Amino acid sequence: MNLDLTRRGFLKLAGTGAAATTLGAMGFGAAEAATAAHVRQFKLATTTETRNICTYCSVACGIIMYSRGDLAAGEHAELLHIEGDADHPTNRGTLCAKGSALKSYVKAETRLTRPRIRRPGSDHFVDIEWDQALDKIARAIKDDRDANLIEHNAEGVPVNRWTSTGFLAASATTNETAWLTYKVVRSMGIVGFDNQARV
Ligand code: SF4
Repeated sequence: MNLDLTRRGFLKLAGTGAAATTLGAMGFGAAEAATAAHVRQFKLATTTETRNICTYCSVACGIIMYSRGDLAAGEHAELLHIEGDADHPTNRGTLCAKGSALKSYVKAETRLTRPRIRRPGSDHFVDIEWDQALDKIARAIKDDRDANLIEHNAEGVPVNRWTSTGFLAASATTNETAWLTYKVVRSMGIVGFDNQARV
């Protein structure tokens, strides 16, 4: 028994076996080999599978993204197909209408793929590098927290509240990411903390 057999490989073999066995039972023994030889290679057989989470809502269904092109070799990876992850405990392979249309979302011409900024006094956004965006966010967080953290209440009890900055988290994450986000936000003292699922 081949313990490395993939789910798709198993389904293909099972289908081939059923057809060949039926032909064999009917007396067309030679047809078994011919049938097996003409089973078309599954279209996604040579693609790379990447597990991810649906971007849309807080159900956070598991998905598998199929792409062609080796990123490690400097090639452009072309996304070919997205489907529900049958091994994911949340959705067991199912996707709703929005999740089923994820590929068009990923490939939409209007999709933002880089951070953008609208500078003070400007009426339009411009693209900036990821490092620039992260540095700017980190600077703003540090400056505002230093200026506005409330360390003690009126009775002198330590409270460490930071009420001048809020945080909006993404719901389309794993439990581990959500846990880490919560710890980071609360450890900084942020009180205003909400989630995209409620917006
Ligand atoms: S597939 Fe549908 S239910 Fe699942 S996370 Fe995406 S939008 Fe939500």
